[in-house]
Amino acid sequence: MSEITLGILGGGQLGSMLSVAAKKLNIKTVIYSDDEDAPAKNFCDHFLFGKYNDKNKIFEFSNKVNFITFEFENIPYETLNDLNKLKIVSPKPSVNRLIQHRLAEKDFVNKLNLRTTRYVHIENKKELEPLSDFFPGILKTTTMGYDGKGQYPIKSLDQISSLNIDFSKEYILEKLVKLKKEISVVITRFGNNKYEIYEPIENTHEDQILKHSKIPADISKKLFDQSKEWAIQISEELKYIGTLCVEYFIDRNDNLYINEIAPRVHNSGHLTINAYNISQFENHVRAVCGLQQIPIKKLYNAEMINLIGSQINDYRKNLQLNKNQFFFDYLKKEIKEKRKMGHLTTIK
Ligand code: ADP
Ligand code: MG
Repeated sequence: MSEITLGILGGGQLGSMLSVAAKKLNIKTVIYSDDEDAPAKNFCDHFLFGKYNDKNKIFEFSNKVNFITFEFENIPYETLNDLNKLKIVSPKPSVNRLIQHRLAEKDFVNKLNLRTTRYVHIENKKELEPLSDFFPGILKTTTMGYDGKGQYPIKSLDQISSLNIDFSKEYILEKLVKLKKEISVVITRFGNNKYEIYEPIENTHEDQILKHSKIPADISKKLFDQSKEWAIQISEELKYIGTLCVEYFIDRNDNLYINEIAPRVHNSGHLTINAYNISQFENHVRAVCGLQQIPIKKLYNAEMINLIGSQINDYRKNLQLNKNQFFFDYLKKEIKEKRKMGHLTTIK
């Protein structure tokens, strides 16, 4: 019987699924969240409610656990750094600091000579004016964005005044890529050149929110290999411990671009729960708690649909699923538009 307790910062569905995976390994979980109604409350062993900068509460949290990880990026670096002095935090705090800032993240990727979209740092409205060749583009807040939040698609310069952009924040402007496809690669790194990598996943977004994921991705062998290689290179460079996801764009000429890196388990990897012998969640728990690395094996092809907002209702009412279908309800208290409420995975 293991005596390990894993502390997880963040209480969303990713925290829930990490808790479920940990339980399977006899590892207890303590979730820390600034949302009193965080869905992971329903799945963890112990729940702590507090602000992410509340030093006393954070100290109480660290006393209850052996290892610490996080399920979303937007946790203050100082908090992670303080915690890391008391218990091992994985992935390490500096990784989070780098990736939670879109500009630093993109600079890092470019230094590795890996391709990103063209981008430029924007601190005020005036800086947009000479940038007509970046349009159509997307203006994104440098920090705190997710699921398309803090993003403004802009077709042309004259549109800007009508958009009411809050310039008290910093942005990057990215040129819009003419997308053929989006894919992602999920990798769990255990140590130097020790990793388990899942095959590329093909993703479809609606309103900048992930809607649908499937394996196998319908891509060339070259892109299949290249996307995996880049993910390995990034995780080695970061000396990453745990599960990480690289999101990619593929343009109409089959060029691969890194869109962003998620230093955590990822929505597109939910299908690994049913399609692989070991899910992205179990692998994350294994890596951050220093457990054994086991080779992963794909058992099935699969596809996953996110249930957004009121789409969850039909599934809650009518649970007539086929044997190859798996419904996940995140048990969020309130149904909100554009909110991920659950997902459905079908194995093939
Ligand atoms: P988030 O942090 O909200 O996931 P992303 O930068 O991944 O933000 O953007 C969300 C989605 O918006 C992408 O998956 C893609 O579908 C679309 N998108 C974002 N940036 C671009 C771009 N430069 N060109 C084309 N599509 C984009
Ligand atoms: Mg994204």
